[in-house]
This record gives sequence, C-alpha cells and structure tokens, in this order.
Amino acid sequence: TMVPQQEAFIGSIDQGTTSSRFLIFNKAGEPVASHQIEFKQIYPQPGWHEHDPLEIVDSVEKCIDKAVAQFEEQGHSGKSIKAVGITNQRETTVVWDHTTGEPLHNAIVWTDTRAQGLVRKLKQRLGAGDLQSICGVPLSTYPSVSKLLWLMENVPAVKECYDKGNLAFGTIDTWLVYKLNGGRKRNIFVSDPSNASRTMFMDLKTLSYSDALLDFFRLDTSKLKLPQIVQSGDPKAYGNLASTVLQGIQITGCLGDQSAALVGQKGFHPGLAKNTYGTGCFLLMNIGEKPVVSTHGLLTTVAYDFHNMKPSYALEGSIAVAGSSIKFLQNNLEFIESSAKVSQLAETVEDSAGVTFVTAFSGLFAPYWIDDARGTLFGLTAYTTKGHIARATLEATCFQTKAILDAMGKDSGYDLKELAVDGGMCNSDLTMQTQCDLIGIPVIRPSMRETTALGAAIAAGLTVGFWKSLDEFKDVNSQGTSTFKPTVSAEERNTRFARWEKAVQMCRGWAS
Ligand code: ADP
Repeated sequence: TMVPQQEAFIGSIDQGTTSSRFLIFNKAGEPVASHQIEFKQIYPQPGWHEHDPLEIVDSVEKCIDKAVAQFEEQGHSGKSIKAVGITNQRETTVVWDHTTGEPLHNAIVWTDTRAQGLVRKLKQRLGAGDLQSICGVPLSTYPSVSKLLWLMENVPAVKECYDKGNLAFGTIDTWLVYKLNGGRKRNIFVSDPSNASRTMFMDLKTLSYSDALLDFFRLDTSKLKLPQIVQSGDPKAYGNLASTVLQGIQITGCLGDQSAALVGQKGFHPGLAKNTYGTGCFLLMNIGEKPVVSTHGLLTTVAYDFHNMKPSYALEGSIAVAGSSIKFLQNNLEFIESSAKVSQLAETVEDSAGVTFVTAFSGLFAPYWIDDARGTLFGLTAYTTKGHIARATLEATCFQTKAILDAMGKDSGYDLKELAVDGGMCNSDLTMQTQCDLIGIPVIRPSMRETTALGAAIAAGLTVGFWKSLDEFKDVNSQGTSTFKPTVSAEERNTRFARWEKAVQMCRGWAS
C-alpha cells in the first residue's frame, strides 16, 4: 500500500494494572498498530498486591518493539513517530536506591491494603483531618504515601537507604520515565501533576510539594528523593527513549490512567464526565481551573496540565473492584471461562432474585471509604444460581457508580446529562444497560475504546504541535458510538439502590 510520506504519528505507552500496551495513533486519533503484554500479578498474602518493577519496564519495551514492527510491516517508518506519551496505573509505588538505580522491593500496587493498621494510626495524628483540603485525597491505604511508609517501616533495606539519604520514590510514571531514559546515568526524575496528586504529597493549588503534608508524614526530604513535578505536557522534561527501536524519540506527555481516559473521551469542559470500567472503576468529572474539595466522599485530582495551558481539575469517584470481580468469577469461583462470558451467564436469569454482592475485596472506596469491609454476598436462597451471582457481581459496580454520581452532583453543582464509558467491562452490554437503568441518564460508549492510550497521545501530541488545540478533537472517535437509554422507573431505581445501601452498611468492620 502507498503511504503518504508526510504522514506523522504519536506513540502511546499504556502501563495498566494487568497489562502494558503500546499504540501508535494517527492524526484522526485512530490506532494503526498496537501490542499488549500481560505481566505477573503477585499476591503474597490476602490484601497484598505487588508487581515486579523491572518486568513492567521490560513489558513496555517489548510492546514498543512489537508494535513498531507491525507498524513498519504496514509500510510506515518508525521515524514518522514524532513523540511518545505515557499513561500509567496510579498510586502504585516503587522505591529504589538512586545511587544504583535498582529497585529495593516489588512495587506495591494501588489495590494493596497492607497499610491498614498504619493508616489507622495516622488518622489519630493531630492534623489528619486537614490533609484532604490540601491534597484532595482522604487518608486511606489507597494513596502512595501509605505504601511508602509501610515500606520504610517494614523493609530494612528501604529504611537503611532512607537513612543514608539515597532513597528514591516514584509512582509508575516516574519509574518508567527514569528507566526508559536509561536510569541512573541520565537520572531523569520527574512526575506529572495528575500522578503526583495521588501521592498525598502535592498541594493541589500550587502543584508543588507541600511542607505541611510532608511534615505530617514525618518525611525528611533531605533523605527522600521526590521527583520534580513538571507539566503533563513538556517538550524537554521527560527526556527520550534510550533503547528500543524508537531510540532517541522524545517523551513529551504523561498522564495518570484515569486522567488520560478523561482526555481521551474529550472531557475538556467543566461538567463533562467519563467512567472507566477496568480492573477498578473510576468516574472523573472535569471541574475546570479551580479545585473543589469534596464533602461527599470523592477525591479531587488534577485532570491534566498541558503545555502552555492552565491546569484543569477533576472530581473523582474511585471504585477498587470492578473488572477484577469478573476475574474473580472466572479464576476463583470458576463460573466462566473468560470475562467475555459473564454477560451470557448473567442473562440466564431475569434479575438477581434478591442477591446483592458487595464486592469489597479490598475495602470500599468512594463514596464510602470503609477500609475494613470485605466482600459479602447477601440474600442467598435455595433458588440462587450462578446466574444470579453473576448478575449481582455486575450490578455491584453499577450501584457504586450510582452512589458516586449522586455525590458528584452534590459536590460539583453540575447535573450530568450523559455518561461516557470505556474500559474492559464496558464491553458487556448487559452491564451498560444495568448502569443506565440505575443512573437514569444515557450511557455513551465510543467505538474505539483505547481512550486511555489516546489521552496520553493527546498530551504528547499537543506538546509538539502535532495537534494545535483542543478544538481539533471534536470529531475524533465520534463515529459508531452506542447509546444506552434508561428503561426503568425512578421508583424501581430507588428501591434497588436502597437495598444496596443497606448491604454496604452491613459490611462494616469485618476485617478489623
Ligand atoms: P486495566 O486497564 O485495569 O488492566 P481493562 O480496561 O483492560 O483493565 O479491563 C480489563 C477488565 O475488564 C478485566 O478485569 C476483565 O475481567 C474485564 N472485562 C473484559 N471484557 C469483559 C466483558 N466482555 N465483560 C465483562 N468484563 C470484561
């Protein structure tokens, strides 16, 4: 095939919780080549979840090489890739010795709850109640800080490294940028505000580290190296790829995965929202240029901070368990052979027949924040089948989304007109119809679902002038969308939701 010489592309690294991907986007926002690699999930104890930081880097580099090979088979040249963006799982914490560049422990993944005891103690410390107004995030096992403090208290090598003044801390964006640049030699040590806002170290208003927060956690920054916070789009700060077939290509954009999905869904105006049903589920609403601190159990986070633009903020509702509940049906209960079969199983029954499944495997996040809840099945009878449980599993994510939307309406003052969706679990039509019925507004699903990767490409592409302004994305990914419309009455919706809320309250305290 003939390929016009002048055509240019943007590469996108999507480092998720269960897999790494590399995609190559054209100017119309279409992926033309991609490669995905799943990597090892390490569960050393109940509630613990780790990744091997070196395997993560390796999987990303392999994805780049494979996707570019595919791209070149189509007749393109790797040189037509003008820049690379990165999006990544957030909060997941890596520590390394900056004198060697080698990790001191496995990465502690965002879902990990091992810091529960430590967090309980922190909550009693004077000033604990004031933290969220500075950083937007409530104290829990979720933000990176609790994972870092756990490592410092429990892993002697980490503590020693800190005492020597050599401890480097990074979220996955920081770690990847550092390693992809070749590590210690170039020592590119940065983070973008959408990632840094998940650490509990950053002041949301200034987008820089807060002494008040660091003091609260008793962290000495002369001993702990924190990455420099730079814009989500920056022509220089992120360096360039030191190896792979794309050696020398600049990295010019970086966004946490949920911020990237909001960008990829073109959520550029206040009041627009998206919900991503991946391993967890994350609803983000753009709230414009001023951060609003939630009083209803939500988080405030940086949506994006593009090159030559003002930062935009988002309100966020995070659900710890979404697609992972489908994996649970598949791997732990062996109800289904693959995630894609869950709808079929759930469709063997008309409704959940009174079964409610609070999928609180790692406590409940927004808007409830119950650390000590655990997964609980309610309403089993001799009539209950696998189908009912599968249906209740899908519904659990939808109920939590409804609770988050209610909270968001109260915090933001915006009434959502429709909800844009993406992520693996949105492939289930039944789940999306259930969602729509529970929230009573249309659910809009784009045909190209790689919105997270697209968001990172947008951050990188805007920086190098590949795209000139946000207006250029109006028609991107707008063909072939599916729209789900509500089919149940407000009364039925409320009755079902009230039963869910009752179940949530009954889960409290199980793991304490
Ligand atoms: P992540 O980026 O967090 O790794 P993805 O967006 O790739 O997640 O989504 C993967 C999740 O989606 C898995 O947990 C999987 O169980 C779920 N999933 C994938 N396809 C389907 C489907 N057809 N129906 C329901 N769930 C699905």
